[in-house]
Amino acid sequence: MAVSSSLSANGVRWDLSDLEPDAEQARREWDELLARARDFAERRRGTVGSSGPQGLRDLLDELDQLAQDVARVHFYATAREHTDATDPETNDLATLARDRGADLESMLLFVELEWLALDDVEAGALLEAAELEPYVHRLRVAREEKPYILSEGEEQALNARRPAISAWESLHGRELATLTVEFDRGDGPEPHTIDRLLSYVHHHDRELRLAALDVLYEMLESVADVQAACYDAIVGDRLSLDRLRGIPDTMWPTNQRNELDGAVVEAMMAAVEAHYALGRRWFVRKAEVLGLDRLQLADQYAPVGSDRRVEWTEAVGMVEDSLSDFEPRLGEIFRTCLERGHVDAEPRPGKVGGAYCNSVSKTVLPYVLLNYTDQLRDVVTLAHEFGHAVHGTLALERQTYRSYHTGIALAEVPSTFAQLLAVERLIDQEEDPSTRVMLLADRAEGAMASIFRQTMMARFEARAYAARSEGKALTRDRLAEMWIEENVRYYADSIELPEGYRLGWSYIPHFIHVRFYTYAYAFAHLAAFSLLARYREDPERFAPGYLEFLASGASRSPHDLLAPLGVDLRDPQTWALAFAEFDRCIGEAEEGVAAL
Ligand SMILES: [Zn+2]
Repeated sequence: MAVSSSLSANGVRWDLSDLEPDAEQARREWDELLARARDFAERRRGTVGSSGPQGLRDLLDELDQLAQDVARVHFYATAREHTDATDPETNDLATLARDRGADLESMLLFVELEWLALDDVEAGALLEAAELEPYVHRLRVAREEKPYILSEGEEQALNARRPAISAWESLHGRELATLTVEFDRGDGPEPHTIDRLLSYVHHHDRELRLAALDVLYEMLESVADVQAACYDAIVGDRLSLDRLRGIPDTMWPTNQRNELDGAVVEAMMAAVEAHYALGRRWFVRKAEVLGLDRLQLADQYAPVGSDRRVEWTEAVGMVEDSLSDFEPRLGEIFRTCLERGHVDAEPRPGKVGGAYCNSVSKTVLPYVLLNYTDQLRDVVTLAHEFGHAVHGTLALERQTYRSYHTGIALAEVPSTFAQLLAVERLIDQEEDPSTRVMLLADRAEGAMASIFRQTMMARFEARAYAARSEGKALTRDRLAEMWIEENVRYYADSIELPEGYRLGWSYIPHFIHVRFYTYAYAFAHLAAFSLLARYREDPERFAPGYLEFLASGASRSPHDLLAPLGVDLRDPQTWALAFAEFDRCIGEAEEGVAAL
């Protein structure tokens, strides 16, 4: 990434002293943690089911404290690796953290195994005990996997082949990461990675957008066979494990992590597909605005309206006001994180790209990383990450460490909600009409990318798993065919798909790392839209309930957490509310461009 010295977030870097004073102390602490874990295992092994409710409570409290200390020391290493990868001391520390982390994990694994080994009557009695209340929901959810766990020897044998499967994942990632091509953006050819080529889809120069995607697809030709072979091996492995374990549905492991019923996920995806026409309506409108007969894929995210620079201090004020107006406590958390040096916003060499939030432990406030480049879109990213940060802070105040962390689908709800609040504020306060249009279009297109495209991708995955389980190899041509068919179901003839897009499936990392991860984005965006609609109905009543939702962490199921806020996941009308909100966003974007 090109780093300009004039960027306004320069100097906004993490202060890691809330984690560890220095690397030396971190090393010492790893040794102490190992000793503590060893001692814990010696005293507690074999006692999970036999020490009574209070005994199990004490055991879990001790483990909770240990797990948090591990998380803190571990994140100290990761945080340095992500912000200062060139320091040799950092690399040593990261290696140490990975090794020690794995050792600790296997040392403490017996707790989960012993919990699963109990029969239903023993476990049921413990789950009724008042002493275990802070842990009960997580313990109950863990038990749901029991029918699919094999004997200890079988599990060990399966674990032993884990590195061989990871090798396919690494190969897939490495092929993409090392792929570069010379591309001329107008000032001479320069080496381009996939991400850099993809970033031109937001460029105002159409020739450049089209050329960048052409070059991208050409480049993917050279790796498509290997990418297909990696995917085929990984899907084949997952399917044979499912068969061995007796897991009946390929989506079950993901639904289980998200604590969502298969029927709820299917109803949501069907509702999304029933609204694909909303997206097409926008693409037709957008083609008119750009003076085209029809959009090409490269025009999908072409800018309309105009962007403007936003200084870091303005962004901070904007996000703080947006959070505080909703509920003062949220603005307070934002301010404290900033003052304590828990935000790293400055883009610089040796720092990772992207953005994330890590809610470390009950005693440390969350750390937020982003790369602030003075664009309006960066303000939205800041708000998104602080949606995670306020969730983590409030949940960790109230819950045990084990009970604060939700599955991916629910975890993205507060971040998307915070993002939607901030965007609405940006739109309301924007004085320049053309910039306002850019914000309206960006909000609509962001929702389309999360809701429509990610659902389309999950459908593609479902077809790949079905084909593979019928004994069909996932070759590049077969994947290409399914990919294009699923894309056409979404875009129909509203967007022209170039021939090379047949390989569009080959660089999506989610397909490789977590199956059906993608639908979580659609779920979160729709749930956040529904929440926004409920908030608007009655802001006074909604805010305290929402704070309660944040503070509840993962102590109840997503259904039970969202229902008190008026979002009933089992009621199809819930999605109707979300789509009304979505429709409103697209409608406002259409009105915006009409006035340009
Ligand atoms: Zn997020």
